[in-house]
Amino acid sequence: MLQNKRIFSLLLVIALISFSSWGFLVHRTINQISIYNLPEPLRSFFHKDKANLVYNSVRPDIRRNTDKTEGSKHYIDLEKFGPNAVNNMPMDWATAVKKYSEDTLKEYGWGPYNAMMQLDKLTKAFKSGNADSIYFYAADLAHYIGDLHVPLHTTDNHDGQLTGQKGMHALWESTIPELTIQQYMLYNNHKATYIKDPAAALWADIRKAHALLPSMFAIEREISIQFTPDTKYRTQMRYGKETKTYTKQFAEAYAKALGQTINGQLIASANMVTDFWYTAWVNAGKPSLATSRDLNTDLDMELKSFKSNGLIKDGLLISKKSKPED
Ligand SMILES: [Zn+2]
Repeated sequence: MLQNKRIFSLLLVIALISFSSWGFLVHRTINQISIYNLPEPLRSFFHKDKANLVYNSVRPDIRRNTDKTEGSKHYIDLEKFGPNAVNNMPMDWATAVKKYSEDTLKEYGWGPYNAMMQLDKLTKAFKSGNADSIYFYAADLAHYIGDLHVPLHTTDNHDGQLTGQKGMHALWESTIPELTIQQYMLYNNHKATYIKDPAAALWADIRKAHALLPSMFAIEREISIQFTPDTKYRTQMRYGKETKTYTKQFAEAYAKALGQTINGQLIASANMVTDFWYTAWVNAGKPSLATSRDLNTDLDMELKSFKSNGLIKDGLLISKKSKPED
């Protein structure tokens, strides 16, 4: 029984990695490092639940298996909303519904609006003082914010399928981070900032993510010149179906050409998560949180390691310590 459960969860993980959002590795990493730049007492409060916050970072993707309405909360196909939608879309849900209709938004993605609703839920959870509820919405909110920093989550060409570059999605957000995270700079000295207008801040980051698309696709084409179809792709059987994915050699060459882009988007995600968590707490009236800061030697050690970008080397980055199915 346990064995079956393990096999099932492994299959689930494989299935999710192939189509979801930031891969499991990055979502988990974001949720952990988002804790470290928070001020006290918030940092200790979130650190207390660190293992769950990391584990539940992918819960919204798992929900997609059972809830048909979940998928379009993770992205926005901006081209479907007219020319220059990235600069023109209303920032609040009610106005967007008036302009495009709810059905259209739910068909082509309403990630930014959903993220704002999750922020609202987290704020209410802080007001209620229910720790479980706070942790729940904090994890969900972090997932949706992370997804909106993946450029391919802001376009209808979300897998490169419209430009003959199918497979870009998993390549960019899963394969490459899995190959290269050891070299990432996971530390940055961002300090949690109160955001007066969270929708505007989120849209500013969405614009930055969206602006990365042309170069992502162009670099893929450039690198492809050095490869033949046989060295660029490999064919695998998945659930009895043939699937074409990029080879490791291609992924490595492409990663090198991209430079710091993916690392940068990971950090931008984490910084916005930190700011949104902090903003929800401030907007809830900075309720006091039960923490045991004085006794938390683990956190002190992790902060030291984080600041020297040593989390992976020191075995403290949970996403690298345990396999997703554990
Ligand atoms: Zn997602």
